[in-house]
Amino acid sequence: MDQKTDPLYQKDGDIYSHTTTLTSIAPLSSLPPTVQPLFKPPPNTSPYILTSPSTIFHTQGGGQPSDIGGITLASPTPSGSDPKFAVAQVRKVFPSGAILHLGTFEPPEIVLTEQEIGLEVRQDVDVPTRVLHSRLHTAGHVLGLAIHQLSRSGVLPADLKDGKASHYPGAAFVENIGLIPGEAKGAIQERVDELVAQDHTVNIHFWSAKEAEEKCISGMDGAAVAEGEEVRVVDIGGLGSYPCGGTHAGRLKELGRVVVRGIKR
Ligand SMILES: [Zn+2]
Repeated sequence: MDQKTDPLYQKDGDIYSHTTTLTSIAPLSSLPPTVQPLFKPPPNTSPYILTSPSTIFHTQGGGQPSDIGGITLASPTPSGSDPKFAVAQVRKVFPSGAILHLGTFEPPEIVLTEQEIGLEVRQDVDVPTRVLHSRLHTAGHVLGLAIHQLSRSGVLPADLKDGKASHYPGAAFVENIGLIPGEAKGAIQERVDELVAQDHTVNIHFWSAKEAEEKCISGMDGAAVAEGEEVRVVDIGGLGSYPCGGTHAGRLKELGRVVVRGIKR
């Protein structure tokens, strides 16, 4: 459980099913007291933690919620009574880089045990949830880019800096350090609409820390630092790049209409 997990979703966000092996299985309650608080398990459940050498499940971080989905044995037994693990929360442990899948077995009495360690398991990400998260996350970048462009062209104050962001359904926002006047909402909406209508492609790059520092609009996101010194960067149509560890839409038309609902101080 201390081994680094290969986050496959960082290289290819379109893999929704993946076969790997089971590395460990343990009740959440048996984990070190420092690790258990990473999770908020649903009440009155007996959650387990599963790990594998690689995962397609996005871990919570960078403002994006974790994926949900299922993990099952890759070769089901004919009886049909194989354990079905419903993944509810996914978290990364620092500094090991181990990615932990928290979930419950359905039904709860048929569970994977240590005997199944080393067997092949199949991961299935819940696709509608992932697609929604990717679209919301990409919309956050588009909004950030729109504000950046308006700041450069003098419509918004020149000293605006990107702050943190949330891409949670029903609670999505981007924060800027500086003051955006309330009247600017229309101009921001217009710029966002233009960017989406232009249907820019969203590309992932792995850059050196130096290159990322020079070319990116905003600062480093801890989740973006991948293998070695490389930084994972998302680029919106060559117009703006951000260090980012999340999943994204492939092109901006996939977002549909992005509505700027309000500006708060
Ligand atoms: Zn991103």
